[in-house]
Amino acid sequence: MTRHLDLALTLAALGWHVFPLAPRDKRPLANCLSCRDNPECSRGDYAVCPCLPDGQWCHGVRAATTDPDRIRTWWRRRPDAVPAIAAGPSGLVLIDLDAHTERLPSDPAAELLPGIRLIGDQVSGDFTGVRTGRDVLLLLARLRGGPRPWPTDPGYQPATVTTPSGGRHLWYRAPHVPDGRRLRQALGQLGWQIDIKAGWSYGIAPGATTVTGHYQRTAGDPARVGRMPEWLAEEVLRVAIDRPAPPAAPALAASSGSGCSRSAAYLVTVIDNGAAELAALTDGRKSSLSALAYKTGGLLAWSGLSRSSVEDRLVTAGTVSGLPERLARRIVHRALTNGLARPLAEPKGQVRPTVNSY
Ligand SMILES: [Zn+2]
Ligand SMILES: [Zn+2]
Repeated sequence: MTRHLDLALTLAALGWHVFPLAPRDKRPLANCLSCRDNPECSRGDYAVCPCLPDGQWCHGVRAATTDPDRIRTWWRRRPDAVPAIAAGPSGLVLIDLDAHTERLPSDPAAELLPGIRLIGDQVSGDFTGVRTGRDVLLLLARLRGGPRPWPTDPGYQPATVTTPSGGRHLWYRAPHVPDGRRLRQALGQLGWQIDIKAGWSYGIAPGATTVTGHYQRTAGDPARVGRMPEWLAEEVLRVAIDRPAPPAAPALAASSGSGCSRSAAYLVTVIDNGAAELAALTDGRKSSLSALAYKTGGLLAWSGLSRSSVEDRLVTAGTVSGLPERLARRIVHRALTNGLARPLAEPKGQVRPTVNSY
């Protein structure tokens, strides 16, 4: 589809960092075999990956580029690929407003806007009109945005896209982030059916078409993306600032080289590799975390590690990837329990143990 190549080139010329997705599942095109088997790469140490400087599309969003030659090469190889945009490298934040026909959360006053108490005199307790992420964002605007939450000045106009499922994408210029911190994605943490894609997370390029339909630009100009109203920037920073990397848990790592601690180090490496993969995912995070916790459960008895130590590490992997903590804990608990009930044989594969993987 030359239309996607043209779109990718047009956005790249505006500084939007582009990379290719598979047209069916909207996941990044698969890594080459050597990246898949290379423990450094799969742990997320992209500095050692020969494919990235070589212009391959390995590692999904990490390959995102504005280089037109690279983009042409990719789409010559995969003309049907769907262009996606890496938010952070492009200096953008995507506010992704879903319109799933889900039932309201069981306790809407507490769950529509996690972390914000919906107080009676500002918001009535009747949430029956709330259906979509857009409704929830309007609710937040009413609470936090003052009398005129949406400035009409074009400097505040996001590039706005209607998604095939009836959702909405608002591409904003990334707000200023305090020194030493970065933005990351936050799924459902700002509000029910609201995801924030920032840092190394991504969204379908405005104007692209997937098997589910067209991402139709409806307002705003990708050449002049506006900034968020100040109240919204504050709320985004509240939920989408990265956390400091978790400690390397030295008690878990191998030091003596005994068989037992080597088994422990093996499992830690499995978890850390899985955590790095998880952090790079946008879709499928819940099932990936579940699969990782299941495998960990299967190896736990053999490793000699305690359940609580791996459980915390897995939950952290989930929250760092952007899942709400309660959800991550629930997924990990269930999958770990199931995995423990089905112990795996001692692994034969070679995973290089590492002491400090984060
Ligand atoms: Zn590769
Ligand atoms: Zn690689």
